[in-house]
Amino acid sequence: MNNRNPNNNARRSNNQQRTGQNQNNPNNQYSRYNQHNQNNQYYRSGQPSNGYRQNPAGYDPYPPVRHRSRRKARQTAFLVVLTVIIMVMLLVSVVIFAARCASGQFTDNETDTASGLITSSQSTTEAVSDTQPPETTAPETTALAANFEYQTMTEADVHKGYLILVNYQNAFTFDTDFVIQPFYGNRNNSYKLRDTLVSLDAYAMDWCNQMMAAFEAETGYHDILVNSAYRTLEEQEEIYSSRVEDYGEEYAKNYVAVPGYSEHHTGLAIDFTIYTDDNESKTFDDMTDYPLWLSENGHRFGYIQRYPGDKVDITKISYENWHYRYVGKPHAYYMKLQNFCLEEYIDDLRNYPYDGHHLMLTDDEGAMWEIYFVAAEGETTEVPVPTDREYTVSGNNVDGFIVTIENGQAS
Ligand SMILES: [Zn+2]
Repeated sequence: MNNRNPNNNARRSNNQQRTGQNQNNPNNQYSRYNQHNQNNQYYRSGQPSNGYRQNPAGYDPYPPVRHRSRRKARQTAFLVVLTVIIMVMLLVSVVIFAARCASGQFTDNETDTASGLITSSQSTTEAVSDTQPPETTAPETTALAANFEYQTMTEADVHKGYLILVNYQNAFTFDTDFVIQPFYGNRNNSYKLRDTLVSLDAYAMDWCNQMMAAFEAETGYHDILVNSAYRTLEEQEEIYSSRVEDYGEEYAKNYVAVPGYSEHHTGLAIDFTIYTDDNESKTFDDMTDYPLWLSENGHRFGYIQRYPGDKVDITKISYENWHYRYVGKPHAYYMKLQNFCLEEYIDDLRNYPYDGHHLMLTDDEGAMWEIYFVAAEGETTEVPVPTDREYTVSGNNVDGFIVTIENGQAS
């Protein structure tokens, strides 16, 4: 067969299989027909060979009959599809009616039934969306206010952001967007460093620089020192086991977090000490004015004293007047105002869901903030965010997301 078209290699490779079949049935109609086809225009143009489709005009004995029966079959199929669509639409109407009745019964309930409320409103909006214009058919969890849209957050995002709670119950996932950089080469001259390696998240470091500049300007001291900040898992393991060795496990547990559960893994925590011009090391334990200034002013720069003496029963860490944690300005301000430790604040924020009252704040510098909580719903969560204002979304490292909106300056 190849000899018949020695110059048409492309065609040959395209039709090798068919050609083989024809060789097995040299006498059947298709074979003869295909042989005929190999010489016609359609075939040369590389179209797949099909006995019926490539039949030259008039070769098919009963074309009109076949077309008519096909049309009839199409009409029947169309009617069946139409009937199914009508039945589905009827079913959807019933679902809408049922869902509306259900949500009407539940919307008066308190936050305890929040998950139930979300489920019922979800089925309502999905059903209703079928009768609305296409732009509103995106999956919705709650009714959105006019100047809000959804931002899709993943399960991993629950463990990222400046408000993550890392403590004895909530490990750090080490899956982070923070940019860890050394203080060395990135700090100002208002403070000192233990060594060139001590590092922190870049954004938290910006605020640390501002805090230290204010500290020096307002106290006159320039010998405060960053003793420890970002720690890898290995570094925490080393510190923990050396404390256990020196003081026993009971003591170590009170001051040093179990590896994986230390806030120092986040790159948002700093331990301060003092290193005087006379090369003398001092801890905050020896001083009153250094720790006092930080506890009274840290919130102006988004930092909180993470382990206060009156919260030991909650934090499970002994009083540490040297350990500061970056959480961001409005949050540090509100925690200071309410005397909340981070555990208490993360709990309290669950009282401000998107579809309830938001936490509205005006901080000590007149900046207005709006804060609310959105519970995580599994693999992805649609988090409502404003379209007309600056905002941030942070996971809480437990069960949801905290949205912080900048509402401008109070007049
Ligand atoms: Zn610390």
